[in-house]
Amino acid sequence: MNYMLKKKLLALIFPTRCPLCSRVIHAHEKFCDNCYDSITIYKGNHSVRGAAAFTAAFEYDSNISPAVILLKRGIRGNAAYALGSALAETIKERIQTENIDFIVPVPMYDTDRKKRGFNQAELIAREVGRILGIDVSTDCIKKTRLTQNQKNLSARQRTVNLKKAFDVENSDIVRNKQILLIDDVCTTGSTLAEITKTLRQNGAAAVYCAACCKTPDLKKEDVENV
Ligand SMILES: [Zn+2]
Repeated sequence: MNYMLKKKLLALIFPTRCPLCSRVIHAHEKFCDNCYDSITIYKGNHSVRGAAAFTAAFEYDSNISPAVILLKRGIRGNAAYALGSALAETIKERIQTENIDFIVPVPMYDTDRKKRGFNQAELIAREVGRILGIDVSTDCIKKTRLTQNQKNLSARQRTVNLKKAFDVENSDIVRNKQILLIDDVCTTGSTLAEITKTLRQNGAAAVYCAACCKTPDLKKEDVENV
């Protein structure tokens, strides 16, 4: 059955809700009009080391964060659809997708994934893949060890924390491929940069990066003071 038809039928039993304010919305809508007006479209020019391009759908702020929290809590509601389809539209506008071979969500360490029950980056990647008609690969790159929560680390500490934290088990899968790497939120871009480096070292031809939300870029003095 067609995805949107299924979503509309399901909405007859479980009404689709805005992931920001819980108001009932149409099944094809991402957010209610009020909330959509309050969120900020990403227009920055952040770049990720080693990547062919970077883009994001929204600026990460207190208006969009409830949707990201909902996504991470697993009370998914309309959050994966809203964030994923908004990101797919952004990617279509800003990245040349014709030559992309497959999508890779930023992986979680196995124990973390089991604890949470799902990988939120994968939920987003699946929405993007469905809309853009590109396959999603969840087994080409693995997170090989636990890392500290990046939240309270400076940009430099984040890079050190992630060093060699990812591994490609079979480089035949990535060799000469153009890959779209997807995360839910990008802060400094160090996770995307580390995975990009690993994919490129294993022969990937190009890695394009995209995230639903990008936090404001830290100023140089902030980075030094964190
Ligand atoms: Zn709303």
